[in-house]
Amino acid sequence: MVVLANARIFDGHTMRPGMSSVVVDGNIITAVGETAGRDGNDVIDVGGMTVMPGLITSHLHPDFYKFDIFSGEKPGKELPPGVMMAIGVRTCRVLLESGFTGYAGAGCAHDIDAQLKMAIAQDIIPGPRIRACGHHIGTTGDMNNRSRWWKRYETPGIDLCGDGPDAIRMMVRQEISRGVEIIKVFAGAGHGIPNATSRNISRDELSSLVRTAHERGAKVRAHVADKEMILECLDLGVDIIDHGDEIDQECIDLMVAAGTFWVPSLVYLWSLLEIGYAAKFGVTPALYDHVREMLPVAQQAGVRILLGDDYSGVFRTMIEDDPLDHQVGNYGREFAFYSEIDGLSPAEVLTWGTSNAGQLLVDAPATVGVIAPGALADLIVVDGDPLADPTLLSRPDEALKAVFRDGVLVIDYLPTSKAPTERSTALGREVRR
Ligand SMILES: [Zn+2]
Repeated sequence: MVVLANARIFDGHTMRPGMSSVVVDGNIITAVGETAGRDGNDVIDVGGMTVMPGLITSHLHPDFYKFDIFSGEKPGKELPPGVMMAIGVRTCRVLLESGFTGYAGAGCAHDIDAQLKMAIAQDIIPGPRIRACGHHIGTTGDMNNRSRWWKRYETPGIDLCGDGPDAIRMMVRQEISRGVEIIKVFAGAGHGIPNATSRNISRDELSSLVRTAHERGAKVRAHVADKEMILECLDLGVDIIDHGDEIDQECIDLMVAAGTFWVPSLVYLWSLLEIGYAAKFGVTPALYDHVREMLPVAQQAGVRILLGDDYSGVFRTMIEDDPLDHQVGNYGREFAFYSEIDGLSPAEVLTWGTSNAGQLLVDAPATVGVIAPGALADLIVVDGDPLADPTLLSRPDEALKAVFRDGVLVIDYLPTSKAPTERSTALGREVRR
């Protein structure tokens, strides 16, 4: 048993008053309280630092890295599969070094999510808790399949296409048989992907996809931006709305009733506006402002909002210090980014990357993303108060003092650390470049 004593605790919902202890037995948090576990055991006095759930990002492409969006190439085909996997391994390390102990995939080539999950479970590499996603499922000639038809590919990259409810059903079953736990569908255009029409899949195909995934215990996430397609996704039982740029009160009411997750992923739109490419990609400042206005409304209504975005490093040559580069600290910037929106508090935004995300990351009865008895012991120690200063979470080199992944102390920069050098870890050290 390990006891983290003398800790300020953000439990995934609120900051507890005063100082408390957290007791971890194996990979489970067994007790939280003022005097919990003070009777011996392995006590680590964190000296008033904040203990909180490990952070979770809920829209991640582990293999997107320095992709040239203007090349006309297909994501997932820019490098050989083994190199793409190496990028995924690097992403896992960057996540842990950033205090992120979990991610829900949003699409990858070569079943990289599921294979990373396997490698982590077998202790081959260190990495976060993963809810694996697979290919982008779409249809023949759709917005991911329309260009360069004369280039036939031996591997599909990230995009898979099929037509008709039967073919889609088989694709979903094949994805799940390879370890996928979230089916990603490109339901509609938008959010920086323009198309002549919004619809990217027929209603009967989408219905088949959702039903088949649910029959096999998988969740469904949909890339969708315009209201009509959002309503169709909600009607058919899609679990996660990715982007959802035109979400309004009607959508919000339906999402609350169904318990639908929403990943606004607004940093991508911000980046397009910042580099002056928004119009070219079908994004307007008004649309960006609309999402910012809807977020507090959705939060108040009870929508389960999540953090996560299209990290890829594609803006690294256009934006100084690209916020969507897979670099240590960047994932944590979203906390401050959303906390600055009128009507949202830092504590609310912090739930998006902890307790809300935990509900997607693992299936009940398991719980994660909270500091509570019975929860999986993914937690971090932060020097400072992330509610008073959400930017702390984007400065892990300064503020992140420890990371417990499944009960194991994988990063230890605590004053009590027995590590040989101040900042060295079993994971090596990330150098920004
Ligand atoms: Zn994405």
